Amino acid sequence: MKTAYSLFLHEYVDPASIEYDDSRTFQIVCAVCKEPVFKVARDNKGKTTHYFSHYKKDETLNSQCELRVNHITNNKIDEVRKESRNQKLNLFLKVFQDIVWENEYDEIGKRKARQYFFQLGGSQVLSTWLRVLLQGFRREMEDKENVLDMFDESLENIHGDEADFTSTYALNLRKEFAFEFLQYLLAGHSKTNFFFLFNHAYIKVLESLEKKRKETELLPWEEEMFNCMRKFLKTNNENKRMGLFNRMDEYKMISPYTHQEVDLHIMFGSYLQYHAFGILLRIPYFRLLKQNFNRKEVGKFDSSHL
Ligand SMILES: [Zn+2]
Repeated sequence: MKTAYSLFLHEYVDPASIEYDDSRTFQIVCAVCKEPVFKVARDNKGKTTHYFSHYKKDETLNSQCELRVNHITNNKIDEVRKESRNQKLNLFLKVFQDIVWENEYDEIGKRKARQYFFQLGGSQVLSTWLRVLLQGFRREMEDKENVLDMFDESLENIHGDEADFTSTYALNLRKEFAFEFLQYLLAGHSKTNFFFLFNHAYIKVLESLEKKRKETELLPWEEEMFNCMRKFLKTNNENKRMGLFNRMDEYKMISPYTHQEVDLHIMFGSYLQYHAFGILLRIPYFRLLKQNFNRKEVGKFDSSHL
């Protein structure tokens, strides 16, 4: 069969995109009879065909399901995905702020982060600048492939409780979720969450510079960024804060990534972006879906869309 349905994701699944083990992890069943199916990849003269097959060896069942599965159109598949993604987005949004606090800091770190967070939230200078950043991101988001590439750079550590979900398919899905989440934040539906995310990214940049500083030493421009960011947090004076941003504007350097001349403020922006993406990618999407799945979905399969 060319498509099957994931009880876990509430979406149709394409056999070419998954690996054998994903069938169990994502609870993949026949879209018609709801019996578990597995993925088959068959090589024929150097060409691989991917499809799903019932575990039950029942020929009538097989051909009947096959016939009906073939009637599921791509439009239907897209429609179901869209609806299901919206529901997931709502689920993720509901717990987003709590999850970030829980996920990103240990108890000691959290206390410090709360102070920083409060400080940052009070700065008009920062929020004005973040609004400008948001405009730029909106343009960048139009190129999805480019954003997914940037995600790859931010994908450093995935937390242990998502250990079941380490296949390529799970990783790609995680990037899709993070992308859809980011799109939502950038569309301006949730400005509070956008500022929330970037204020945490600020704290994450500061933490990572602090860590590097302890372990080795910072490059001159990193030291300057670190100092500006720390001073920014230590004052409530918005003129001083503006002065610190100007200081970063005036600091010219060669970017170690693009090898072009940039100012420190731009580097600061890309560091924030890198860490914001990291936070979004580390959201335990699958754990949340699993909790939701265990709570309501066991034994119930909504076939109303078939
Ligand atoms: Zn079937």
